[in-house]
Amino acid sequence: MTKQYTPMMRQYLRIKEQHQDCILFFRLGDFYEMFLDDAEEASRILGIALTGRDAGAAGRVPMCGIPYHSADTYIAKLIVHGKKVAICEQVEDPSQAKGLVERRVVRIITPGSLLDSSMLEDGRPNYLAALHRTGQAYGLALVELSTGEVLVGAYSGRQLPSPLIDDFLRFAPAELVLGPELEANEEVERLSQLAGTNASTVLAATHFAPAEAERVLREQYGEEVDPNLPAVAVQALGASLHYLRHVQQRNLPHLRLPQRLGTGTYMHLDTATCRNLELLRGYRSESTAGSLLAVLDQTTTALGARELKQWITRPLYELDAINRRLDAVAELHQKHLEREQLRQCLQDCYDLERLASRVATGVANARDLQALGSTLRRLPQLLSLLNQFRAPRLQAIASDLMLLPDLADELGRALREDLPLSIREGGIFASGYNQQLDDLRRAAQEGKQWLAQLEARERELTGIKSLKVGFNKVFGYYLEVTKANLDQVPPHYVRKQTLVNAERFITDELKSREDAILGGEEKQRALEYELFVELRERVSTYVPAIQKNARLIAELDCLQSLAEVAVRQHYCRPQIAESGTLEIIGGRHPVVEQVVGRHKFVPNDLSLQAGETLIITGPNMGGKSTYMRQVALIVIMAQMGSFVPAESATIGLVDRIFTRVGAADDLFSGQSTFMVEMVESKVALTEATQHSLILFDELGRGTSTFDGMALAWAIIEYVQHHLRAKTLFSTHYHELTGLAERLPLVRNVSCQVAEDKGELVFLHRVVPGRADRSYGINVAKMAGLPTPVIQRARQVLARIEQRSPSEVGALQLTLGDYQLDRAEAEAAASSSLPTQHQQILDGLAALDINELTPLDALNLLASWSRLYKEGVE
Ligand code: ATP
Repeated sequence: MTKQYTPMMRQYLRIKEQHQDCILFFRLGDFYEMFLDDAEEASRILGIALTGRDAGAAGRVPMCGIPYHSADTYIAKLIVHGKKVAICEQVEDPSQAKGLVERRVVRIITPGSLLDSSMLEDGRPNYLAALHRTGQAYGLALVELSTGEVLVGAYSGRQLPSPLIDDFLRFAPAELVLGPELEANEEVERLSQLAGTNASTVLAATHFAPAEAERVLREQYGEEVDPNLPAVAVQALGASLHYLRHVQQRNLPHLRLPQRLGTGTYMHLDTATCRNLELLRGYRSESTAGSLLAVLDQTTTALGARELKQWITRPLYELDAINRRLDAVAELHQKHLEREQLRQCLQDCYDLERLASRVATGVANARDLQALGSTLRRLPQLLSLLNQFRAPRLQAIASDLMLLPDLADELGRALREDLPLSIREGGIFASGYNQQLDDLRRAAQEGKQWLAQLEARERELTGIKSLKVGFNKVFGYYLEVTKANLDQVPPHYVRKQTLVNAERFITDELKSREDAILGGEEKQRALEYELFVELRERVSTYVPAIQKNARLIAELDCLQSLAEVAVRQHYCRPQIAESGTLEIIGGRHPVVEQVVGRHKFVPNDLSLQAGETLIITGPNMGGKSTYMRQVALIVIMAQMGSFVPAESATIGLVDRIFTRVGAADDLFSGQSTFMVEMVESKVALTEATQHSLILFDELGRGTSTFDGMALAWAIIEYVQHHLRAKTLFSTHYHELTGLAERLPLVRNVSCQVAEDKGELVFLHRVVPGRADRSYGINVAKMAGLPTPVIQRARQVLARIEQRSPSEVGALQLTLGDYQLDRAEAEAAASSSLPTQHQQILDGLAALDINELTPLDALNLLASWSRLYKEGVE
């Protein structure tokens, strides 16, 4: 079958056969061509023309192509669509090739293995995940190739365990590698979909085999790997290392030792809590707008921006570690001038982590080394700024920073200022760096001078003033004469090319020097390339030190960011305690206060002792959710080492925050809203400890009033008797406030509201005691529900309130009741006023006659008269 194809097409098909899951970029001269199915798919995604190419007896096959020098943009687009791109280059010089040029895939670019800064988002890590299951255990490995970060986790469970789901969603890997045992697994597919992981590869079971995984790890890390890593995690990591080496076609010495997920002293925040509290993203937006991150992010480097996300979703759970961060933030907070100088200095630091990875993997170009050099040259200044601080963490950063003066100096001396993107075209090294290069450059310069002299001499000899020396790739150097002067061309000029207005000639003399000039340039380019690769290899020996500096800069940037925000937003330093109490005076919601304005936001206190439950009642829109969330956010901020939006705060360490909010939240399980609410409550009730903080926001509202209320009641009792976790419980079930009389550690608070001329005014003040009403109908009216609905709701409410509790409790609306209700509804509908007339009545009700001038009164009367007529029509 393949015999029908041309030799080149046969070569293409052979290579494509080995890279079936990739789009194959097949180098042909200055283009990357794609054929057959790849061409059809790529032309559709990239919006480029689909053409065809004669493939021999098989006829024409679909083809599309892109110029090699602009390939990056096209590759990036394919990657965003979850595609993998295999780059197949010509690996021998076409002019030297006997027959078909040899071609080979030199690199595979996949969504989870990006190194190119143009394809990566600065502040966002890009992970590759590998997932493996053996028996009842799951192993997860996460590798961030561009920064060298490696994380592993092991989880037990027959179905996907929820901590695994949390970790997966938190790191949201761009790509997934799976063992065959998880191929087409529905749970894994749904998880990938939720995390936005749009590329996955199933690897053969052999790559996950324990012995093979251990071999790969030993090859990567020698004997340094923690021998206590769980076997299933090692297997996942082994497979991911194998895959990354395969796609990169090289060793990856910059990958750091694997860190264990789920260990260490961190506060646990599950995915739902991160989402409910809008830690990294606003609830309704896909962006950071409206999130805690958006408030806290005043980092100045991409490194810091990535690190801050980790700090927010993994607050600390260790008194000393938190205080070390807080001490640093406090000193940075206090020393304004020094902080500003630090910020400016950091601003000039490039992304050392990603630069180190590019150096280690041999893809760094001259601009990368320049960025590295200029960052290293900043470090002495950074160090002297840091030396002005006393906080132990800042001093530790200063003493751990590695200045690498030799490297900084060499990079400074070696590279020119204005550097090309390509490392093969020369123009990289400064003069004085290499003697041989300087000689070649001088020779090239002399060649140019010789050409200029030749031009001047030939003009004089021939008398053609417009004669000029030019160059093109086909004919090399030539002499160009316009048509008008052709009769003056001497006979030894040899015609080479005819243009519309001119002709081009060569002479023996010109050709004899041409080789020397061109050969010199070629040698110069080759030498620069060689020198560059050597330099890059030398730099790669510094990668561990550069990575260490990167970690320190990331930490410093986060600390200064927290200090900067604390100053700008008027936050205070929290006291961290082991006691289990939460005492907040004048607390604010860091995000809502920015939306409504700091001076309009009403601060509130909280005093919650170990084991206490607060039942929060109050009208809709009264501020219950805001209050509960602000408590959780203040705790998170405090434990990440940040100042908090309050006048003062004492935060007893919290090991985990649970949030159960009533909103539809059935993304993962595909279950009903109420079912999810119950499943999530179960998690809180089975996993919370006395050090946890639980937020139940209107628990039970997804079912009938009395079922919901009964469950809520029982849950609060359970928390009180069995868990003793600090709990905030907002509800519209006023009956629950009765619990405060029965249980010593349950208290009521409510959001205050006032009525002004029949209108509700929300005071947003949280006060002791319970609310008497919900004001739901008032809020509905404020929202602009049609007047007949509001009126009818008032009637129904009045009727319900007249009934005895047992009648209501059984919810036995008899048919007679129903008919009565319907009769009433019809009566109400027939008696209901047109909207315009209702507006007149509302206006009358709100009218204060003492505040009207005679003219206002007349105008009002005129507008009512108009409204009345409109209502009649
Ligand atoms: P519902 O019972 O309907 O869920 P709620 O009592 O939970 O309502 P929130 O959603 O917390 O009410 O608050 C409603 C709005 O009130 C917020 O979006 C915010 O604009 C404003 N608000 C809440 N608390 C305050 C405050 N302390 N100061 C100023 N404005 C506030």
